[in-house]
Amino acid sequence: MLSKGLSEEDLFSFLSSQKKEDIDHRYILSSMCTLPHPVAVKAHCMFMETNLGDPGLFPGTAALERLLIERFGTLLHHKEAGGYATSGGTESNIQALRLAKAIKPVTYPNVVLPESAHFSFKKACDLLSLEMRTVPTGPDHRMLANAAAEVIDKNTICLVGIAGTTEYGMIDPIEALAKIAYQHDIFLHIDAAFGGMVIPFLEKPIPFDFALPGVTTIAVDPHKMGMSTIPAGVLLTREPDMLDTLNIDTPYLTVKKEFTLAGTRTGAPVAGALAVLDYLGTDGMRAVVTGCMKNTQRLIAGMATLGIAPAATPDVNVATFACKSAPPPWKVSWTRNGDLRIVCMPHVHRDTIETFLKEFGEMHA
Ligand code: PLP
Repeated sequence: MLSKGLSEEDLFSFLSSQKKEDIDHRYILSSMCTLPHPVAVKAHCMFMETNLGDPGLFPGTAALERLLIERFGTLLHHKEAGGYATSGGTESNIQALRLAKAIKPVTYPNVVLPESAHFSFKKACDLLSLEMRTVPTGPDHRMLANAAAEVIDKNTICLVGIAGTTEYGMIDPIEALAKIAYQHDIFLHIDAAFGGMVIPFLEKPIPFDFALPGVTTIAVDPHKMGMSTIPAGVLLTREPDMLDTLNIDTPYLTVKKEFTLAGTRTGAPVAGALAVLDYLGTDGMRAVVTGCMKNTQRLIAGMATLGIAPAATPDVNVATFACKSAPPPWKVSWTRNGDLRIVCMPHVHRDTIETFLKEFGEMHA
């Protein structure tokens, strides 16, 4: 630490200079996060000092968290769902597997999941000492449900399906997975961290949520397509009190038990996430998703006219291409298979897509 503090002017001049080093969102085509909606920023700033880790001190904020869970439960066809606000998909996935393990205590527990699963499952399996049974995806990049059924055994504590994969934007055959889970009486976790705020607003929504009887838990991230401030995730459970299985004693807090992973946790992004939902409503969210999907289709069509084939026909707003380079300063990303990947988030406007296509065409001319 400095022995003598900086003047406010010097301090903020330093912070501004650091912020200038960050990439301008105009060029970020690789991220599943986006610029937060202005109402999320306003709500976030109102709740900066709140701590949901000690909810008895912040009953108003704790009520917002319950409302957020209710809003998502209703959106995902189960108003009575339980759950809580996490820091994002990673924490939701860790907690879902922690819950599955607590519910089915076996000596050598395994988890069956697609090869397309997000790397957060590797972290979860490491932390919880779970064997990861990876199931291949088919040519359409969706998990092969039959292959999943084959590797399930008496030590399987959880089956995982992805609704909106990180790399190719695909929805696994959740209906088939739900049937398998239901037949085998296995915990089914759906990672809809990205797709959970897209699929319900598609022209033809694809079943992936609590409407399917086999689905046990769902992860959705408001800080992705929900345009909340970071960090905002949600873990939902079919049984309202299911997470109590994870309760540990917290003697010196205003509540005596806690099932969350974090202790201290900010209420600010919870207020931010709820603000966006209530400000936009389903009509507003549908308009946002429709725009992102149109931009995705325009990008795919535009690349085709430049002779670049799509690597997949995505269910959500993630476009991938059999292509090895993109012009600077655009920030694109690459899948494990080496395909160019662009996520058409709300900050990626139509004119951004057109400019990218023009510069891409010039580079590859
Ligand atoms: N699950 C999916 C499908 C994701 O795409 C991501 C991140 O992109 C995660 C989980 C992890 O989310 P987070 O980075 O918010 O922890």
